[in-house]
Amino acid sequence: MVHIESFNFKNFRALIRVDFNVPLNEKFEITDDTRIQASLPTINKVLKDGGAAIIMTHFGRPKSNLQSVKLGAEEKYSTRHLVPHLSKLLGREVLFADDCGSENAYKMAKTIKAGEVLLLENTRFYEEETKGDVEFAQMLATLGDVYINDAFGSAHRAHASTTQVADSFSSDKKMFGYLMDAEVSNAEKVLHQSEKPFTAIVGGAKVSDKILILENLLNIANDVIIGGGMAYTFFKAQGGQIGKSLVEEDKLDLAISLLAKAKEKGVNIHLPVDSIVADNFSNDANIKTTDSNKIEDGWMGLDIGPRAIEAFSQVILKSKTILWNGPMGVFEMTNFSKGTETIAKKVAEATGHGAFSLIGGGDSVAAINQFKLNDQVSFISTGGGAMLEYFEGKKLPGIEAIKLDSEV
Ligand code: AMP
Repeated sequence: MVHIESFNFKNFRALIRVDFNVPLNEKFEITDDTRIQASLPTINKVLKDGGAAIIMTHFGRPKSNLQSVKLGAEEKYSTRHLVPHLSKLLGREVLFADDCGSENAYKMAKTIKAGEVLLLENTRFYEEETKGDVEFAQMLATLGDVYINDAFGSAHRAHASTTQVADSFSSDKKMFGYLMDAEVSNAEKVLHQSEKPFTAIVGGAKVSDKILILENLLNIANDVIIGGGMAYTFFKAQGGQIGKSLVEEDKLDLAISLLAKAKEKGVNIHLPVDSIVADNFSNDANIKTTDSNKIEDGWMGLDIGPRAIEAFSQVILKSKTILWNGPMGVFEMTNFSKGTETIAKKVAEATGHGAFSLIGGGDSVAAINQFKLNDQVSFISTGGGAMLEYFEGKKLPGIEAIKLDSEV
């Protein structure tokens, strides 16, 4: 596979698929530019080499087509709003094509000069984008000489601009951007070359969202820590009393079978022995600490308790590889954030002692940021859904489209 670092973009027009799906306020100003920042190294590499950058992205979920934005109806989904900020970040005026599939876009892309940047209108104004339409993808491909995919957050979707478009480029003319490359190599490291002991920490609200990742982790981890609301389904399945804690009644059998599979494979499953329970889903609720399998009626577990924190910490501190997806409790409320905060600190501490830690999934990333530990872990994944699917063991179409025919 061609590597972006060794490719010289001089006199090439690079068609770069990024994920600039950033939040805007009511004045159409960007409120968090993390995703834009994440792809700057890729864009700057093309420009520094003496190439031109033609950038395409999806932006929100428009319901209708391009005509509606021209009428103002879906104005908020126009990538036009990104131009001023992107121009500032790149230190040059970014050109804008108000359609990614028009003759005008083709002309602008054709006449672009070295060092120039062209941002295309939202690819999702074409329904062909999400359908993975081949003709639309071939049309997009005419806009550049080489294709770079730097949109890890969209890699699990077989959309025209992330997947089918790559088929129009020969294997020496398509590659991952730096962000995508880092995501893939760090995920691969955890999945296939992890130093042992490998501990996976899985939390969050629902077992149903995490079944596939749990099943796959049983094949690679030595220890699996289960926290958050999903833990109570496991306690109930084993005959515990869980009061009014979160439970998925239809997943009780599955919880038992996951525990059995873990035993069979010699994987240690760690459930929180105690919990901080509350009489209400509120930061002002009455709280106390109880065994997680003896929660009284009228009470619900909203965080892991002190004994669980201690036990989980021991496991984390002896780990050499750590994967963390999902919080240990309702960390958004201060009274139930201690479990997640302490686990985050222990992951950082283990990293400081040489462990490799990868944090992924929206809420664990939010937690790491909230506790200001983002520079004390090895890698924070930017792709929520994509990261989850990767660790479920699935092949992501956006990645395969570049790897497949080029990698022997
Ligand atoms: P997920 O998106 O599945 O990772 O879930 C994250 C959400 O789970 C966060 O908003 C947490 O507040 C919530 N959560 C974590 N623990 C619990 C719990 N014990 N009871 C209810 N919600 C929880």
